[in-house]
Amino acid sequence: MEAKKTAETEDPKARRSFDSAYGFSFSIAIGLALFITGLVISLTIGEGTNTGLIFGIPLLLAGLIVPIFMMRGLFKTNEIKAPCPGCGASIKTSDATLQLKCSSCQRVINVRDEKLVLAD
Ligand SMILES: [Zn+2]
Repeated sequence: MEAKKTAETEDPKARRSFDSAYGFSFSIAIGLALFITGLVISLTIGEGTNTGLIFGIPLLLAGLIVPIFMMRGLFKTNEIKAPCPGCGASIKTSDATLQLKCSSCQRVINVRDEKLVLAD
């Protein structure tokens, strides 16, 4: 009974970390692609003029900035503020939390899909 509960609460966490790992390498790949494109453009098209730099430099910068913004969104957690399903006391947590204990009634609460659910 208790073991089954634990297995259920672990599923969303595993899915979440997989998404994070995938998004992480994806944003690195995009940043690298932009960076290399910018580098190639500024080195080849330029040839003494500023044309290559005008197009190349923004791409280089985008290659550095885009992954940072993508990763920031990736690790952002939503704040949850909801009444305790057991006693109604206001609880503040984040969707990164899987399980918590109510400070008022000491009951264990699962966090599922940004909602608070009593563990038993
Ligand atoms: Zn409570």
